[in-house]
Amino acid sequence: MQLTDKQIKEFQDIYEKKYGKKLSWEEAIDAANNLMGFAELLFKSYITDQGRKEKLGKYPKGFHIEGEGYSCCICHKTISNQETWYDKYGIKCLICQKAIEKRLIPVSVCKNKDSWYSMWEFDYYFGVKPSTVRKFVRQGKLKVRIVPGEKGKTYFEIFLIKDNPGVLPKKPESRLVETEDRMMRVEYEKIVFPLSEDQKNK
Ligand SMILES: [Zn+2]
Repeated sequence: MQLTDKQIKEFQDIYEKKYGKKLSWEEAIDAANNLMGFAELLFKSYITDQGRKEKLGKYPKGFHIEGEGYSCCICHKTISNQETWYDKYGIKCLICQKAIEKRLIPVSVCKNKDSWYSMWEFDYYFGVKPSTVRKFVRQGKLKVRIVPGEKGKTYFEIFLIKDNPGVLPKKPESRLVETEDRMMRVEYEKIVFPLSEDQKNK
């Protein structure tokens, strides 16, 4: 879809009224086109989403979705077509889906990312390496839920906050901060991992 000169002019006026800055004609064309591209993308996603929800009425247990490059809402593996499973909780890989069906992990992990930690997040938030996390698990200080892979191997590990009361803090709050070169980056609230303190005292 191509924007008309009239629409560009309107966009220029709205922008000036709202932000007090007059965009050059080129800037206005760029910005209006970006905005439209974004709106189109949102609209297409909305339509796709509605279609899937309708299909759920017919297949309430879920179904594979067509297309490539989806991401599992639990392990974040990139999945396509027959590797996907879609239901009202989101898009999952078949391995994670199976773990949900076997009730090894609760279905809430998909929608509520703040209810659990993955292995890499211990390092990301607290600077605690996987080897240390595994040691805590062996010592019985941390409870882990395992998503099993092939031949009894561990495919993915989930640490539920509710499984570890008093040990796992709630997820650190994030905020956007501006860096010196005027870029934005995410910063996290500093939280000391309780078990790390235990270790030092020994
Ligand atoms: Zn997965």
